[in-house]
Amino acid sequence: MTALRLAGSLPEDGVCRVCGEGLDGLGRCAGCGAVYGAAHRCPHCNVVAAAEPGGPDGALRCRLCGGPRLPSAVGETPGVKAALQKARRSSWQARWALVTGAALAGLSLVALVASAVIIGVFAPSLLVSLGLLATSALPLAGAWKSRASATQAKAATAEALREAWAAAAIAVLRASSHELSARELAERLHTDEDNAERLLTDIAATPELRTRVTDEGELVFSTHQGRARVAEPLDDDEATLEAEASSARRARP
Ligand SMILES: [Zn+2]
Ligand SMILES: [Zn+2]
Repeated sequence: MTALRLAGSLPEDGVCRVCGEGLDGLGRCAGCGAVYGAAHRCPHCNVVAAAEPGGPDGALRCRLCGGPRLPSAVGETPGVKAALQKARRSSWQARWALVTGAALAGLSLVALVASAVIIGVFAPSLLVSLGLLATSALPLAGAWKSRASATQAKAATAEALREAWAAAAIAVLRASSHELSARELAERLHTDEDNAERLLTDIAATPELRTRVTDEGELVFSTHQGRARVAEPLDDDEATLEAEASSARRARP
């Protein structure tokens, strides 16, 4: 069943089990599109499955279940999962509202044509004719309402997807042992630098986010938790230097 292009755990030899091609660093096969490893686990169907274009609001979608996905499960937390599930629900609501709206508009059109025929053939009184036309046009109000619901649900989908990206960015920064530039964040999230910069703008108000300009003039980002971890594993030389510096500080009058 190669059409599904599923695979599972990362093969030790780095070779695709489906077609025998070599895998890239992310466990993806360029030959047949199969994917391997937990980084490709779908938060909706929980299966290791490739994500492909065609999801709501320009997002990727799971090749197996169609749920909206980020390019990789790296940085996926319960928050990311919840946001993606919210995006999935909203995108279904938007689709359903569009279908309902189209059906109601179609129904109204058919009823209007039928009314016109009845009026033409039987020439009822003006009051009856107006009543027929008004009744036929009634579903149009429902169609209009459905359209508005679809627009609202689409906006909610886009918002939930942004939430998912932002939560993933924060999780990656928290897990990092050093401060990350926008480019490094993009690499870890398997996205482009423009998107990473947008994400950093989205999470700029997060209290735990820290920014710093390095000596080389590069803007780097971290979180409280990430920083705490940076402080922990000093290697021997750094630890000695740190101890010397602090005893020098203490020795100062
Ligand atoms: Zn393959
Ligand atoms: Zn899925």
